[in-house]
Formats: sequence, structure tokens, C-alpha cells
Amino acid sequence: MKTISKSIMSLSFIAAVVAAFSCCSAKYIDMDVTEFGLLLKENEAALIDVRTPGEFAQGHIAAAVNVDWNGDSFVEKVKAAYPLDKPLAVYCRSGKRSAAAAKALAAEGYTVYNLKGGYLAWCEAGRRITKYEVEVFKTPNGSLVSLCLIKHGSVEIEYDGVSIQVDPVPGFGKETEYSTEFPKADVILVTHSHPDHLNGVAIESLTGDSTLLILNKKSDEMIAGGQLLGKGESMSGEKAVAKRLVISNGEKMELPKGIVLEAVPAYNTTPGREMFHPKGEGNGYVLTIDGFKIYIAGDTEDVPEMASLAAMGIDVALLPVNQPYTMTPEQCAAAAKMIAPKVLIPYHFGQTDLSGLQELLPEQKILFRDMQ
Ligand code: ZN
Ligand code: ZN
Repeated sequence: MKTISKSIMSLSFIAAVVAAFSCCSAKYIDMDVTEFGLLLKENEAALIDVRTPGEFAQGHIAAAVNVDWNGDSFVEKVKAAYPLDKPLAVYCRSGKRSAAAAKALAAEGYTVYNLKGGYLAWCEAGRRITKYEVEVFKTPNGSLVSLCLIKHGSVEIEYDGVSIQVDPVPGFGKETEYSTEFPKADVILVTHSHPDHLNGVAIESLTGDSTLLILNKKSDEMIAGGQLLGKGESMSGEKAVAKRLVISNGEKMELPKGIVLEAVPAYNTTPGREMFHPKGEGNGYVLTIDGFKIYIAGDTEDVPEMASLAAMGIDVALLPVNQPYTMTPEQCAAAAKMIAPKVLIPYHFGQTDLSGLQELLPEQKILFRDMQ
């Protein structure tokens, strides 16, 4: 802890020294992997990956935004996205392109940090990378919670070294190889037993010695009965079976690092569709992490119980939008009005057109992310 705050102080000191000289010449700050990692932990600098979109898609540092240095109008694009007082952190593959980009941005007046050795050095140091979009949030106490938006109904939440996987499945959108793309999970949450939410292969890949698998009763029964999961795969791992805990609507549980988990109702209400997700069977989950509340709705329509979530003060709500199994954009808007989250992230949307959602919710902060 001491070392970290000391290093952060030294980062601020470097920035101050560079700022003092920036009137004379455009300077940027080179950093090694350790320094760069600490800078990202502060979460003040915008992280820009200056490689090509193709390189970016194969893997990048979490929460990076891609602006191609070799593409058109690099500097203009960055200036359109960030004010001059926003610190910028840049990297490329080996550090060459990003050094040129850093120089150009520093000349505009930005404070710029450049990762020496680039993405290659980052990977070589064993630092985590991702091919998914990651949103980073701050808890009321200033800790960081990152939300990796994997695809469809699958997300990973990371807080203080704890990895919580929700409804991990390999397919249903981007192919995900959980054994290589993610660390072993501390907690795996399953909302319900449909194959786009419950998958034995993903659960086995993510299960380590102390992984906790928390799921609704029906999913538990399917695993206990040795029934086929996902696309015909069977659950064979003993370890995954050993640490299963069933949770039902209205129940609470404490997870590692004081995280509180609450299961809430998730079901269909439209006449003729109740059998997709019968009332009382599946779960939505509310996670309270260092005072920060994330609601992952699971497969549900805009059920009246959502109104009680408003009193909890939800920071981020993930709401499903696809037909005929979950909500229409109009229902999603009605749900968001009930819940009043600070940030809404539509997910589980398949081919649904979400373009009218912001108009339905003019005041709501909505993050539209690629979860196909
Ligand atoms: Zn479902
Ligand atoms: Zn589903």
C-alpha cells in the first residue's frame, strides 16, 4: 500500500515537472509497465490504444479506446473526445507509434503518458488484457469496479482482485474461451437454466479451488441430475459441483471482500410468454460492492418488483432487450424509469434495434455497448 501511494506521488511529481517545462517544448512522459499500471489504477487519464482497429480487436488493455495513429485526423479525433486538461495515456504495439502520437498530443497542450515497450511489454509482464469492452466505475469510497461486457447475457465484474462471472457461456455472440481469456473466478453467478446463461464448459473452465457457484434452484437441479448443459456439453467437473449454493428471489448472501449479493425476481408478464421465464424460477442479481450497486436483471420483463430497486440507489443497471423472451425498448424504458439507475446498459439484445431508446429516456445516461 505504502509503495503504491509513494509511486502515485512520484507520478504527480513527474507530471508537475513536465507541466512546468511544457511552455518551452512539447514533452510527454515515458513510463514502464509498473508505472503505467499505477497510472491506470488512478483512473484519471484517458487510455488510448493507437494501433489499428484490427490489432485492437485481437486484444487490448482494459478500458482503452482505439484511435488509430495511422488513420485520418488522429489529433483532431482525440481533441474532439477529450478536453486539454484531461491527462492521456497512450500505447501501441512496441512503443514507436505511441511515442509519435504522444509527441503530437503533447504539442497540442495535453499531458501525455506513453507506455515504453507498448502492448508487447504489457503482455510480457503478465498483465491482463481483454478483447471486450470494459467500463470502470468508482465506488463511493474511491475504489475501482470494472465491468467487462463480454456478450449477450455474459459479464464479468472485477473488484479488488475478486472476479465475479455472471452467466458465462462460450457461444451466443463472440466466441469466448474462458480458460485462456479470464482468470479463475472467485464467484460464478447463474441467473437461470437457459443455455445462453448456464453452460457447463464455461463453468468448468472458470472453476478453481475456491470458486463459488451460486445459482437458482432449477440450474442446481440440472447440474445435480447430470443433465446436458449448453450446446450438448455435460457437466463433469467434481469441483464445480462441490461448491454450489442455491439462492432464490429475495435472499441475500455475503461474498468475498464484503460484497453483498441479493437475488431479485426475473420473469415474463406478457400473456402467452409466462412459460419462457416463470415467476419465482430465475433470478436477477443486485451486487453491492463497497457501496456501489450493480443490478443485473437476467431474463425478465418490466416487473413491478423493479420499483423497489429505486430505493436501493442503483448505480448501474443491465437490462435485457430482446423479443419475444425479454423486453421491448419501450418496456426497457419503463423499467429504467422505475429503477432510476445512474447508468443504464442495455444487454441481451440480439438483433433488437435500440436506436429509439435514448429518445424514450432523454434524461437517462445510457451506455450502448457491443455485446453481440
Ligand atoms: Zn432465458
Ligand atoms: Zn437469455
